[in-house]
Amino acid sequence: MSRIVVAGAGMVGSAVAMRLASAGRQVVLVDQRAVASGASGMAMGAVRQSLANEVEIAMARATINWLREHSQFQSVGYLALATTIESEIELSRRFSFLRRAGIRVERPRPDWVRSFLPSIGLDDVAAMLFTPEDGITDSTHATRTAAALAVEAGAELIEGTDVSELIENDDIIVIACGADSARVAARFNITVPLECVTLQLVETEPVVVPGDLPVIVDIGSGLHFRQRDGRLVAGGSLQGAPIHKEPSVDPRIVVSLTDALTRRLHIGVSVSRSWAGSIDRTPDGRALLGQIAERVYLACGFSGRGFLLSVGAAQLVAGEILGWGRVGPDYHAARFASKLAVPVDVK
Ligand SMILES: Cc1cc2nc3c(=O)[nH]c(=O)nc-3n(C[C@H](O)[C@H](O)[C@H](O)COP(=O)(O)OP(=O)(O)OC[C@H]3O[C@@H](n4cnc5c(N)ncnc54)[C@H](O)[C@@H]3O)c2cc1C
Repeated sequence: MSRIVVAGAGMVGSAVAMRLASAGRQVVLVDQRAVASGASGMAMGAVRQSLANEVEIAMARATINWLREHSQFQSVGYLALATTIESEIELSRRFSFLRRAGIRVERPRPDWVRSFLPSIGLDDVAAMLFTPEDGITDSTHATRTAAALAVEAGAELIEGTDVSELIENDDIIVIACGADSARVAARFNITVPLECVTLQLVETEPVVVPGDLPVIVDIGSGLHFRQRDGRLVAGGSLQGAPIHKEPSVDPRIVVSLTDALTRRLHIGVSVSRSWAGSIDRTPDGRALLGQIAERVYLACGFSGRGFLLSVGAAQLVAGEILGWGRVGPDYHAARFASKLAVPVDVK
């Protein structure tokens, strides 16, 4: 049987390698830098199953179950705030959908929110939604654990090496290179519709907030934040960036996130550090999973939700390679194939 080379030791590639090695396949997990050196090591670590469709809910459930068993997961819940008419309509739609999908979902009262965040400003909030089973994790720890479990199951881990340095003719390759996936796919003559987008986070100096503060998301403005070790970690909406540009911290975003936090919480916050990472986004916001050409599989295009979807997505991609089933059409890499895929000669 062919050796399988998984390119990219982020959470997605590590989870794919873990599944394939556990099934007894010969697997090499290779990273041009190191395990968790990409977006997986920079993520906020917010993990929710309150998502827009049942396929993603199932993927996120698999991730949460895996985190509970092998890494860490704290069910602090997700509190979504609607501050615009559009976001109020969106929350109402989301409430009905999540109920039908069997996700625990509540419409909390302002008093309940103020019981743990007395200073929070809710005057502009038209509606709220709380999903108590969502929560937070440490994405770096989880990624390192997944890579270690892949190695324990028999995979070979090679760091500091570009995938093209070790591909041989009979190899099967899985491209799980996050924001670099389009560039790596191009080396195999495959064009994938991925745009590189920057996401920047700030971490505040210590603030007085409960240790089990929910992840709070203003779905109108995009501001979202969580508690980590007595500090707040906050992010905003995705920012577009040219595909080859290294992401860098934009001081204007530091200011706007700090202002947005101060306005929402009515407490003074000062920022201790900020960082920016790149993610890969598809035109329809859905990941590219499964076979794209002979011996080439994709596990990329997660559009900012790659950590929370990782373990479930890895199961789908590994399952397709192992012949256990095919990724559904809405997520299959081949849905853009008529425009993109070119048969490939791997070497
Ligand atoms: C600031 C920030 C906050 C985020 N917050 C969240 C969050 O709260 N929840 C969530 O679900 N998602 C979040 N995301 C998105 C999430 O982090 C990513 O979608 C996810 O980590 C993608 O995982 P990955 O394994 O596909 O990619 P990555 O973690 O980026 O890993 C790709 C790996 O491929 C390697 N690589 C690249 N090119 C090559 C090559 N030629 N050869 C070998 N290796 C190569 C890289 O070195 C890298 O290690 C966030 C992203 C950012 C940037």
